[in-house]
Amino acid sequence: MDRPAPLEPLDETWERALCIVAHPDDMEFGAAAAVARWTGQGKWVGYTMVTSGEAGIDALAPGDCRAVREAEQVDSARIVGVDVVDFLHQADGVLEHGVALRRLLAAEVRRHRPDVVITGNFRETWGGRNLNQADHVAVGRAVVDAVRDAGNRWVFGEQLTGQGGELEPWGGVREVWAFGSPESTHAVDTTDTFDAGVASLEAHAAYIDGLGWADWDAREFLEGMARPTGQRLGVALAAPFEVFPMGWGD
Ligand SMILES: [Zn+2]
Repeated sequence: MDRPAPLEPLDETWERALCIVAHPDDMEFGAAAAVARWTGQGKWVGYTMVTSGEAGIDALAPGDCRAVREAEQVDSARIVGVDVVDFLHQADGVLEHGVALRRLLAAEVRRHRPDVVITGNFRETWGGRNLNQADHVAVGRAVVDAVRDAGNRWVFGEQLTGQGGELEPWGGVREVWAFGSPESTHAVDTTDTFDAGVASLEAHAAYIDGLGWADWDAREFLEGMARPTGQRLGVALAAPFEVFPMGWGD
């Protein structure tokens, strides 16, 4: 078998990143250690949860589950230096890529004015034969479109000052990054912040418990992904990202 291709280090010359994902726990299954690294560098990172993951625990009805999962996500975020967690309260499990979702996400981009927007893998698979989950695909595709929408004053104009809203257009997003993509070309060294990433995943205790995976260990699971990625970057542990440039010339 051929050796996997080397990965390039991610550009870290930015100040603000907004992470937009479908569910509480999505960041923690791939990117929390990277977030800990960046907040440790003094960068601002915010989280936007499109749903509250209320359909994620089989034994808990959505009405009861929502508050549990939101609280776990807020704790989990704090562990990696993230104090702003927005919940958009869309229905878990049935998200659709379309104008309604783009409108919500464009408002988030205009509100937080990030240099980089991060989402999860939205390719069809994770690299093997297991298909990705529908909400992940819908959100990732909507994120890329919403970043462009956010910069266009003629799209979702009702969000803007003077037209009924209180936001301004924001065209400053340089790149969208999708963590965990099977087509990742880049990675970030998470060796020094790996423990924070593990703790951040472990904060989703009710969710992990609800999965009912006997003897599942968060550290072992995350290491299983981070070690091979680290080898491709030339470090001990790393997180992989696919990079989508948001200009038109690349
Ligand atoms: Zn998810």
